[in-house]
Amino acid sequence: MKKYQPSEIEPKWQERWRRERIFQPDIKKAKKPFYNLMMFPYPSAEGLHVGNMYAFTGADIYGRFKKMQGYDVFEPIGLDGFGIHSENYALKIGEHPIEVAERTEKNFYRQLQATGNAYAWENTLETYDHDYYKWTQWVFIQMFKAGLAYRAKAKVNFCPSCKTTLSDEQVIGGFCERCKSQVEKKELEQWFFRITKYADRLLKNLDWIDWSEKTKVAQRAWIGRSDGAEIKFQIPNSKFQIRVFTTRPDTLFGVTFMALAPEHPLVLSLTKKAFRQRVEKYIEAAAKKTEMQRISEERVKTGVFTGSYCLNPINNQKIPIWVADYAVMGYGTGAVMGVPAHDQRDFEFAKKYNLEIKVVVEPLTGSLSLNQAFEGKGKLVNSGKYSGLESVEGGREIVKDLKKKNLAESKTTYKLRDWCISRQRYWGPPIPMINCPKCGWLPVPEKDLPVKLPYLLDWKPLGTGISPLAQDKDWVKVTCPKCGGQAQRETDVSDTFLDSAWYFFRYPTVGQPSAQKVAFDLEITKKWLPVSMYIGGHEHAVLHLMYSRFLTMVFKDLRLIDFEEPYKRFYAHGLIISEGAKMSKSRGNVVIPDLYISKYGADTLRCYLMFLGPFNQGGDFRDTGIAGMWRFLNRVWKLTYLLKDDREDPDLSRRKHQTIKKVTEDLENLRYNTAISAIMEFVNFLSKKKTISRQTLETLALLLAPFSPHLSEEIWSEILGNRFSVFQNPWPKYDPSLTKEEELTVVVQVNAKVRGQIKMAFSEAEKREEVEKKAKSDTKVAAYLAGRQIRKIIFLPGKLINFVI
Ligand SMILES: [Zn+2]
Ligand SMILES: [Zn+2]
Repeated sequence: MKKYQPSEIEPKWQERWRRERIFQPDIKKAKKPFYNLMMFPYPSAEGLHVGNMYAFTGADIYGRFKKMQGYDVFEPIGLDGFGIHSENYALKIGEHPIEVAERTEKNFYRQLQATGNAYAWENTLETYDHDYYKWTQWVFIQMFKAGLAYRAKAKVNFCPSCKTTLSDEQVIGGFCERCKSQVEKKELEQWFFRITKYADRLLKNLDWIDWSEKTKVAQRAWIGRSDGAEIKFQIPNSKFQIRVFTTRPDTLFGVTFMALAPEHPLVLSLTKKAFRQRVEKYIEAAAKKTEMQRISEERVKTGVFTGSYCLNPINNQKIPIWVADYAVMGYGTGAVMGVPAHDQRDFEFAKKYNLEIKVVVEPLTGSLSLNQAFEGKGKLVNSGKYSGLESVEGGREIVKDLKKKNLAESKTTYKLRDWCISRQRYWGPPIPMINCPKCGWLPVPEKDLPVKLPYLLDWKPLGTGISPLAQDKDWVKVTCPKCGGQAQRETDVSDTFLDSAWYFFRYPTVGQPSAQKVAFDLEITKKWLPVSMYIGGHEHAVLHLMYSRFLTMVFKDLRLIDFEEPYKRFYAHGLIISEGAKMSKSRGNVVIPDLYISKYGADTLRCYLMFLGPFNQGGDFRDTGIAGMWRFLNRVWKLTYLLKDDREDPDLSRRKHQTIKKVTEDLENLRYNTAISAIMEFVNFLSKKKTISRQTLETLALLLAPFSPHLSEEIWSEILGNRFSVFQNPWPKYDPSLTKEEELTVVVQVNAKVRGQIKMAFSEAEKREEVEKKAKSDTKVAAYLAGRQIRKIIFLPGKLINFVI
């Protein structure tokens, strides 16, 4: 009898699956296409860690299940190897990014193959391959032509350690998403993508797309739509006015000060001479703070008076104008109307500087506290003719009246800002733009794509706001495509998130004749997209997932496609930790799958990862746990020793159909851990038998196939000698009539005399505690037992219970 040896069987099947193209769908002719996508891995070190494998295994299980349900599953993989992640790693180890990519690419693909996933190996792509980035550049040009890419001078995020600009989405709580350094603000001229134009569509579609709810919540918050009004405050005897955006026009009578952001363009013109020195000093100090520090709720609010006043448009009251750094330019208009009674930040500011606090909204129930602002809605008071109205109606009336005098307009604002797309780095697709002194900015003619990244010996970021590519003077020089004069190439590269915002459009086209001519073949795209199932990390909610939705909408508007949401379904998986702690290099607890695969095999690791907990919640990786899964698969293996072609008994058949039902439903809902435990129970049951039928072993191999593909293939094709492959066999069906629990009658005796009969579900009738409980609660039996001491209980599972009293 052969032992279970994954190191022998796993490479064997991986090789055969690939050779016989089992997981390579017919891209053009597939009848039931199912695009099963997992998130693009970015190689930021030498190889994959177990977190990647966790995500990919969960996605792969779903894909295999769909394949066995008869779909033409397309499960592509590639490497998001361009960009700051890989470049930072190259910097760290002091090797050229091109060489790092060449070396690690092989290792990544070797690892990906070793996990046993059902990849379409003929459709791989790497973002640093010029066959790919040619089309990333093409995407940029389409954006430019559509007026969606523009160049502007703006205060942008700058990471001093990565020495480049970052998008808002790449700044997490004030820190660089990549290297965790504190991000600064720098005034630079950059390329932007006009994502704000799509803010409303990005928001509205969230109502119907089938995504994990927490990811939708994160996107809604990031887009940050607020409906309100822009109100104009005149400066007396001056041409100036201050525009303020507010979502609470109902509190207008409660304004007691105006707070301008230190960067507000009117600040210096409004500051009176006597106050100038203090104001200038304040502005200087504010410039050193990050926006995050400034808007932090804990911080004590500060400000200085400008000496000027403006007029409240609703009652012409004079209002002092202050400069306060909790007002920021990015959101709204850079001016805050201070309503201390009804806004906590304004309240704190007013308390500190002894400004008036005027209550204009009272709660509908309960009373007002004077220790903090009342931010809720209620009934207007001290608000002239509007007093007595409810907040929403009062606000509407106030805006309506001010509109007539041209002092207000309804407005909607978003927190979302345009996507800063240029990076002063080396390792990315050069932005395909040309700057001509005569003609201005022009796109590189599409026939001249790709603009290849030149090989630079000195490729390290400079930190001057200029890309290292600028050092290659020959490369920078270019002929203007319009006037033929001498012009210069853009030397910034594009953000790595642009590479990954459209990669799934390219996958199905890879390897097709049209791949040379187009970014994505329209007919093929129509067949395979939108993606049927996308599984990945929630942490990309406002990065990759937002950007790819945006580009998809643009492609639709350019009439390249006829859908505008890229993923039919998005499922956010959980994260795994290791021995109770978050995995990190500094802790030294990053788990590399290779060691476990060589010790136990990929199947054991796959099953173990999926057994750690619900897939959307993650789990804790422990060495002791994986050994348990290894023993389980060995137990499955040993069942093959019992193989004997005989009839199944009805009790086994019921178990079998119940297990099929449970595993099918769990797989459909990605409840992998409970599916595995149902299979475990079934295996435990079978292990007690003396023989096992061919049919039963087949079912077991099929049920396990998505989880432990190699082991299942070995049992199916080798041990049972069925036709290769197990994955070309339909998913097992269950007979609903057999999944119902049969009821058994258990005889109840007291001192060996029959005193009653109880009916119980099949599985319960085998459990002594359950039967005992039910028997004791039977009124007839209870009468015999009342007041007596039970000395002994004799129990025959499913048949009889005898109380000896
Ligand atoms: Zn950084
Ligand atoms: Zn020109």
